Amino acid sequence: MARIAPTLRGRRKRVLVTGGAGFLGSHLCARLLSEGNEVLCADNFYTGERDNILPLLENPLFEVIRHDITFPLYVEVDEIYNLACPASPIHYQLDPVQTTKTSVHGAINMLGLAKRLNARIFQASTSEVYGDPAVHPQPETYWGHVNPIGPRSCYDEGKRCAETLFFDYLRQYGLPIKVARIFNTYGPHMHVDDGRVVSNFIVQALRGDPITIYGDGRQTRAFCYVDDLIDGFVRFMASDAEITGPINLGNPEEFTIAELASLVIELTGSRSQLVNRPLPADDPKQRCPDISNARASLGWQPSTPLREGLARTIDYFDRKLATLAAAPAP
Ligand code: NAD
Ligand code: UDP
Ligand code: UDP
Repeated sequence: MARIAPTLRGRRKRVLVTGGAGFLGSHLCARLLSEGNEVLCADNFYTGERDNILPLLENPLFEVIRHDITFPLYVEVDEIYNLACPASPIHYQLDPVQTTKTSVHGAINMLGLAKRLNARIFQASTSEVYGDPAVHPQPETYWGHVNPIGPRSCYDEGKRCAETLFFDYLRQYGLPIKVARIFNTYGPHMHVDDGRVVSNFIVQALRGDPITIYGDGRQTRAFCYVDDLIDGFVRFMASDAEITGPINLGNPEEFTIAELASLVIELTGSRSQLVNRPLPADDPKQRCPDISNARASLGWQPSTPLREGLARTIDYFDRKLATLAAAPAP
């Protein structure tokens, strides 16, 4: 099959975003469109939502296809962002075999597509490749501490295998790859029933429901606001070819889950009570990125404080819950 011509000076770039109807994907599509690119969103709507991309549908440079990346995809594009994969533990554990297929078969298909087109390809990898880390904060050189057979393994090992494939396509075929290890990110467009901690706490606080702290709440995470992360994606994709990653993208300010709960209660003015629930299996005790590489090679670091990002996210969920309450029952 013929290769498409390299991007001509002045011609719009055509960019494929897999998982483009999801939380991060929809923000990325909006950002790429705002820069004048043509955007093709491919999503099977497993966790993605039509609402996330509704405002983009008016833009003639935006196109959506319902597609599962575990099947081959033949399109003509200049760049690929591979984001398709459920990211919340409750969603990726619902059909774990499909999760591994999405990470592994999906990566093979997207890498095959990139190889045919000689297109740059970005992989949304994850801090989960470090598992329950024995090194803290985590630099990219740390190989991780991952259970290969537990309930989180479909996601963790799937993403690790995808990284292996990306680096083998680089070594074997010279493919221009960009592998980002994303740490916990939050913001508008998270699903109301996403199940991850920030959206859970905000939705529970706004509804006056009990706030569910898994375990004793002393486990830590570092939370990055979505706009900061997307800026990191775009900078990384535009960086010199030799910057392949893996590169950590996240906010290095670390909080306990109990601290997060207190902050959400304060910012929402909620009267919700805190309740403790069992800690899920293999839940990492601590997680925080070392972003020295992203700072040095991309000139990137997050700028949105947690308090400010949470306030914007609370605003979003407040409006979303009001819309859902007003909608007729399905
Ligand atoms: P999300 O669940 O909101 O989005 C994932 C999107 O992929 C959804 O639109 C879903 O419908 C789609 N999808 C799932 N399987 C698919 C398949 N087989 N074919 C086509 N589409 C499919 O999650 P998100 O938070 O936006 O995460 C996006 C990517 O970033 C994921 O790859 C995730 O692993 C990675 N990531 C996210 C975070 C985070 O904190 N948000 C952290 C680390 C890594
Ligand atoms: N593929 C795709 N779109 C393309 C080219 C390839 O989806 O435009 C898929 C195809 O299913 C193939 C996979 O990518 O199996 C890997 O492609 P590659 O060329 O690396 O390997 P091969 O075709 O030799 O198995
Ligand atoms: N968590 C919690 N209550 C919730 C959801 C999650 O205490 O309602 C905890 C979870 O056990 C984990 C942390 O918050 O320790 C982050 O969980 P999340 O699912 O957001 O992401 P991940 O574990 O993948 O980092």
